[in-house]
Amino acid sequence: MIKDYKRYFENIPTCPHCNQELSVCEAPPVHIGDGLGWGSEVLYICLNDYCSLFLKGWDQIEERYGHHASYRYMRLPDSNESNLMMVGNADAFKASVIDPQALEDQNERYQAEKKALLALDNCVKEKNLEPALHLILDEAAAIDGRKRAASMLVAINNLDCIDPIRNHTFRDTSLESDCNMAIKQLLQQNYKKECPYCMEIIKAKATLCMHCKQELT
Ligand SMILES: [Zn+2]
Ligand SMILES: [Zn+2]
Repeated sequence: MIKDYKRYFENIPTCPHCNQELSVCEAPPVHIGDGLGWGSEVLYICLNDYCSLFLKGWDQIEERYGHHASYRYMRLPDSNESNLMMVGNADAFKASVIDPQALEDQNERYQAEKKALLALDNCVKEKNLEPALHLILDEAAAIDGRKRAASMLVAINNLDCIDPIRNHTFRDTSLESDCNMAIKQLLQQNYKKECPYCMEIIKAKATLCMHCKQELT
């Protein structure tokens, strides 16, 4: 599921210690026993390494608590409440910064997946390979939709799916083997085979590959 973080980018507060715009960060997951957590999916955090709060924090914490850490300024969205977050190094929270462009891309990918899933219902009837192939090749799409798409390849009966599937790197080995099985059946039902030397699709009965001229036994 894609979270709609867009609104958090509309009024980003600045840090009172360095006047820099705060970073929009994904709130760390709440562990059971941690209490209530932040009550927000997003935190605004000053990640400026030259922020005076962060620079002075090392000495302050060393003096007060005797350990190596500093502070980052943090604000919760929809609240005027500010907090100091203790961090052990300069990189803390930097991996959780939300990139609005990445969000946009993620959203576009998700919309395309949804559209393909809807089109999947009619793709056998319409002999429409496109939505099925789209899902199969989208590593970020949900696996059940991709598996369903793979199960339709034989009925769609379009050999154009073979090349892109062969050229794809599957993370899910069970989906990959579903696709291999489907390709095998597809080739059989069309009296074709793949040349073992150049992988081009040729007639099942061919004894010489018309592409690479290798003799086949
Ligand atoms: Zn700051
Ligand atoms: Zn060949």
